[in-house]
Amino acid sequence: MTQILQPETLDEALAVLAAEDEAMPMSGGATLVAMKNARLVEPTHLVSLDRIAGLRGIATLPDGRIRIGAMTRHFETASSALLTGSLSVLRQAAGKIANRVVRNMGTMGGSVANADPAADYLPALACCDAVLTIARAGGERELSILDYVEDWYETALEEGEVITAFTLPAPEESPSAYRKIARVTGDFATASCAMALTADGQGIRVAIGACGPGPLRDPEAEQALIGKLDDPDAVTALAERLVAMADPIDDVRGTADYRLALIPRLVRQGLDDLKKDLR
Ligand SMILES: Cc1cc2nc3c(=O)[nH]c(=O)nc-3n(C[C@H](O)[C@H](O)[C@H](O)COP(=O)(O)OP(=O)(O)OC[C@H]3O[C@@H](n4cnc5c(N)ncnc54)[C@H](O)[C@@H]3O)c2cc1C
Repeated sequence: MTQILQPETLDEALAVLAAEDEAMPMSGGATLVAMKNARLVEPTHLVSLDRIAGLRGIATLPDGRIRIGAMTRHFETASSALLTGSLSVLRQAAGKIANRVVRNMGTMGGSVANADPAADYLPALACCDAVLTIARAGGERELSILDYVEDWYETALEEGEVITAFTLPAPEESPSAYRKIARVTGDFATASCAMALTADGQGIRVAIGACGPGPLRDPEAEQALIGKLDDPDAVTALAERLVAMADPIDDVRGTADYRLALIPRLVRQGLDDLKKDLR
């Protein structure tokens, strides 16, 4: 029998997770309940994070950076007035997750902890240079989203750890865009692309999703594109670098070859979106 616990404080939750080998944190339960029903996981304790103050909501920090609590639901992220300009890519990605029911249930922390390679937040957070705060009994650490996914469904998250927040740089006024190709509206991505123009308008940050275990970014290729956004050959060169980094699989959402072919298309479309926003 699984015991469901509803601690009021993070310390209480972390203490149970540290003490019980088979305890799991639960956010919205959007994925976890289905996994449990299918007996993919058999936790002794489900530690709900729902009542813990401080894990929810989006706020501007005194230095202008944005903090998103791990329990923030997708619908809140999709409608946040704080995620503007260079950070609106995250708002756009949240709005493209599944359907209203899932957006009301699912949380950013649960989604990132689950680390589905096709999840919408991973490329959007990578494009924003997000930093995760991860807590465990007796301490916490910070980790770049780019160092977080280690392999297919494998992350740097250790037993007993909980993602508590995401910190994003202060929003810049430059535009950002999220493109997702899926079989039908509301499905996970076959491939996706998150893109933001740099503050001076001369360069881009671009991250590809669903084409490998984690989001793909190539900062060196981004550097090489600075000042050349109107040069189609230079844009193609960046897209080719991302194709070379990709490690997609064949699955029900598309073949690996199809995914590779989508990357240059998504990069071009994302850039068009940014340019349209500038007009
Ligand atoms: C029908 C359906 C369609 C979906 N479509 C999409 C889609 O198109 N795009 C997309 O991106 N996602 C999609 N999702 C996933 C959805 O975004 C969920 O948010 C996500 O799966 C996590 O759900 P949750 O936040 O309720 O976490 P839970 O289900 O509660 O937990 C998920 C996992 O993460 C662990 N966990 C939860 N919170 C934390 C935390 N703070 N720290 C550490 N570990 C934690 C749990 O132990 C569990 O292993 C879909 C889900 C469903 C059910």
